[in-house]
Amino acid sequence: IDYVTVMDIPFSNLTQKELLKEHIYPRINKENKTYIVTANPEIVMQTRIDDVYKNSVKQADFIIPDGTGIVIASKIQGNPIKERVTGFDLMFKLLAYAEKNQLSCYFLGAKQEVNDRAVAKVKAQYPGIKVAGQHHGYFTNDAEVAQKVAVAKPDLIFVAMGFPRQENFIAASLPLFNKGVFMGVGGVFDILAG
Ligand code: UDP
Repeated sequence: IDYVTVMDIPFSNLTQKELLKEHIYPRINKENKTYIVTANPEIVMQTRIDDVYKNSVKQADFIIPDGTGIVIASKIQGNPIKERVTGFDLMFKLLAYAEKNQLSCYFLGAKQEVNDRAVAKVKAQYPGIKVAGQHHGYFTNDAEVAQKVAVAKPDLIFVAMGFPRQENFIAASLPLFNKGVFMGVGGVFDILAG
C-alpha cells in the first residue's frame, strides 16, 4: 500500500472504502491479526515526545489519518493523503460488518458503568451483534486483562482507554492473540454512553 509520511508517521493513503474493502475485511476473513491506529494530531504530537508510544504506534498495520490537520499537512508537503478517515466512522462500519458476518466483538475500556451503557447502545443499534466480552479500562495488570480478552477469541477488539494507554496496551498485548482486529477508539464509549 501507499504511505504518506507526516511528522515521521507513515499514514496509509487509502480512502475509508479502500481500507475496509481491500484490506480490513479480507484480513478479518483470513483471521489475520490486524492493528489499526487512528491517529489525530494529538496522537502524532505525543509520538514526538514519547518514544515508547511512538514504538507502539509504529507497530500498527494501518495508521489512519483521523484529523483534517494531518490531511492539510500532507497537502502542504506536496504529497496529499486522499481523505480523512475517522476512528469513529471506522468503528461503526466494523460493527455493521460484524453484525452481518457473525463476528464477535470485545469492548475494553472506560469506567464500568460507561462501558455497560456503551455496550447496551451497541446491542440496541446492532441487535445481531455477538459480544465476546467487555471489561472496564481501569486496571493495572495489563497481561492479566489481555489474557482475559484473548480467551474470548474476539474477531474485533475496541479499546477505549485514550492515548497513549490504548495503543501501548494493544502493542504489548498483540503477541497473546492469534487473530483479531485491534483498534484504539479513545472516548467513543463515553459518546455512546451519552
Ligand atoms: N480510560 C480508561 N482507562 C484509563 C484512562 C482512560 O479506560 O486508564 C478511558 C476513559 O474513561 C475514557 C476514554 O479512556 O472513556 C478516553 O479518555 P480520553 O477522553 O482522555 O481520551 P481521548 O479520547 O482524548 O483519546
